Amino acid sequence: MSRTDTSYRGRFAPSPTGPMHMGSLIAALASYLDARHYHGEWLVRIEDLDPPREMAGSANLILKSLERHGLHWDGEPLWQSNREAAYEQALLALEQQGLLFHCDCTRQKLGPNGSCRGHCLPRQAEVGQPCALRVRVPDDTALQIEDLWQGQQQSLLGQGTADFTVKRKDSLYAYQLAVVVDDASQGITHIIRGSDILDSTPRQLFLQNALGYPNPHYGHLPVICNAEGQKLSKQNHAAPLDDDRACDNLRYALAFLQQPVPDDIEDPVALVSRAAADWSRQRVPRVMTIEQH
Ligand code: GLU
Repeated sequence: MSRTDTSYRGRFAPSPTGPMHMGSLIAALASYLDARHYHGEWLVRIEDLDPPREMAGSANLILKSLERHGLHWDGEPLWQSNREAAYEQALLALEQQGLLFHCDCTRQKLGPNGSCRGHCLPRQAEVGQPCALRVRVPDDTALQIEDLWQGQQQSLLGQGTADFTVKRKDSLYAYQLAVVVDDASQGITHIIRGSDILDSTPRQLFLQNALGYPNPHYGHLPVICNAEGQKLSKQNHAAPLDDDRACDNLRYALAFLQQPVPDDIEDPVALVSRAAADWSRQRVPRVMTIEQH
């Protein structure tokens, strides 16, 4: 598996809000196996854009966990905290197309899901700091993707209150903007990630189209949930992975993805290499969530 094919470049893009847990291992492993099975590259990007949500030291813990699980990335990890110039350039391109507006609406004035009801629109010239930058999505915007596991997804993104934030009132760049700019600049062709991000994808497609970037292929994996239907996450106190049990963790993740589970290998690098050779997209369950106890 030494030959790499530059027509496939995948990535894992964790936010450093805590150490890796089983949910993040599943996303990392599936994106890694899909990339390596198709002789592609696999990059890591640290999405450290939101300091108030971050846990000090967790980016390095995540990188160490990936290595301990035999998930070796190509090149150097990209850190979003160094990417301000690229995000500002993208904002300028959106501004030049008349797609941005300044919003200083207070929380009380915003509508459902934090959308803007347009109170700030007639006052654009007077809107001062602090304000958010939002994208205005034309009413007739309809988007479609063929997801590897969730099938055909149609979105009438332009209907209803469709604006969304690209730079926050606290001056932080929004995830939707940063992810699109960085996926394009890293030349990502395949995005394999959890189904909890599926509903962000239409906003990302909209930005890719507006900025003239190619649309990558998407595969949204089932995510682990508990009996109440809540996704396994740091907020739900998911247990951190024990790096000393890397092979057992990898076997659990492979079983979750319904892949063959090699029980005779005790070296993580050899285990993921076997799993990459055996990887089958067809076996991954085509559902949004899987309950685990
Ligand atoms: N940084 C996001 C997270 O950790 C994932 C972003 C993505 O894969 O697009 O949830």
